[in-house]
Amino acid sequence: MYNPFDDICNLVNAAAKILGVDENAYAHIMKPEREITVSLPVKMDNGKQQVFDGFRIQHSCIRGPYKGGLRYHPNLDIENARALAAWMTFKCSLVDIPYGGGKGGIAVDPSQLSSGELERLTRAFIRALAPVIGPHVDIPAPDVNTDSKTMDIIVDEYSKIIGKPSPAVVTGKSVDNGGSIGRTEATGRGVAIITKEILAKNNQSIVGATVVIQGFGKVGYYAARILHEFGAKIIGISDIDGGYHNPAGIDIPNLDLTKTKRNISNEELLTLECDVLVPAALGNQITIKNAADIRAKIIVEGANGPVTGDADVILEKQGTTVVPDILANAGGVIVSYYEWLQNLENEKWTEARVNETLGNTMTAAFENVYQMHIDKSVPMRKAAYTISLQRLLG
Ligand code: GLU
Repeated sequence: MYNPFDDICNLVNAAAKILGVDENAYAHIMKPEREITVSLPVKMDNGKQQVFDGFRIQHSCIRGPYKGGLRYHPNLDIENARALAAWMTFKCSLVDIPYGGGKGGIAVDPSQLSSGELERLTRAFIRALAPVIGPHVDIPAPDVNTDSKTMDIIVDEYSKIIGKPSPAVVTGKSVDNGGSIGRTEATGRGVAIITKEILAKNNQSIVGATVVIQGFGKVGYYAARILHEFGAKIIGISDIDGGYHNPAGIDIPNLDLTKTKRNISNEELLTLECDVLVPAALGNQITIKNAADIRAKIIVEGANGPVTGDADVILEKQGTTVVPDILANAGGVIVSYYEWLQNLENEKWTEARVNETLGNTMTAAFENVYQMHIDKSVPMRKAAYTISLQRLLG
C-alpha cells in the first residue's frame, strides 16, 4: 500500500545529501515526536452511541509550536495523518514562520452526520486533545471538510475546559470570533500568486494562461476566483461529482458548479491540455498510473500530496514542472500565523495588510526555491526540501 510518509523520507534523504549532512544529524526529523490516537463516543440523533477514531500527529516542534489542520474524512488513518503532519513541518520551515508541524482529524464522512452530531463529535475530539494542544503548544486549523464554524466550536469547548477565553488555540476562526480577514481565501490566493510567479519564470503572462483546477472546496474555489481575477482562463474545474470542461473559458464569478452539467470525469480532467494544472482536492491523484498522460506544462499543487514520488520521476522525465505543495499551498498557514499574532497582540489587520504580507512572504519563498532549483539543477520539490531541512537543522 502506498504510504506518503515514505516519499517524504526519500526527499529528506535527498535533501540531506545535497546539504552534505550526516544521517544522524537529521534522524529526529524522520519520525514524528508524538502520535495521539483517541476514541470519541458520540450520542447520535437516534439516541444510540457511536464511537469514532481521532488522531493528532505532532511531527516536530523544533521551530515552534506544532501547527496544522484537522480533517474529517473517512480515509484518514494514522499513516496519512503522519505524512500530513510532516508536510506541515517542512512547509512552515520553508516559508520561515515560527511553527513546527502537526496534523490530525477524525475518520468520518461528515456528510453522513447532522450538524448537531458533528458539533458533539468536534467537542468530544477537543476534550480528548485538550491536554496536548494550546496556543503555545499545538495550534489546529481547518483542513479538508472543516471550516471556520468547526474552529469556533473548538475555541468554545477549549475555553470552557481551561476556564478562560483562548482564541489563539486554533486559527481559521470566523472573523467575528477572532479570525483574520483573508484567512478563508488565503490558500487559494497563495496558489494563484505562485501560479503567476512560475509562469513569469517561463516568460508567460498569467493573462490568458489556460488553467485546469481539480477540486472546488476551499482551496480550488478561491484559487479559481483569484486566478480569474488575475486574467487566467480557467478551462476545466471539478468536484466530487465530476468535471466541467469549457475550452472557451469558464465564467468563474457566475459559476454554480452544482447546477452545471458535467461533461468530463475527474480522471479525464487531470489529463487535459493546459498551461497549468492545479490539483486542489485530495492526495494521491497523480500517480505512476496517470503521470505519463498529464499534458499540463506546469502542475501547481493546491492539495497536500497530490503527486506521488513515483509520478514525480515520470513528470520530471517528460519535462513537466511541479511546484510542490509545501510551497504552493502555504498561503493558508501563513495567514494562520497572522491570525495567531493578531490574537496574541489583540490587533486587527486590514485585508490590504494581510494580502500584501502574504504576497511578500510567498514570493520570497518562491524565489528561494527557484534559485536552489537552478543552482543545484534539481526539481523544485527537492529544492524546497533542501531549504526547509537546512533551516530545521539550524
Ligand atoms: N490545513 C492547511 C494546510 O494544510 C492549513 C494549516 C494551518 O493553517 O495551520 O496547510
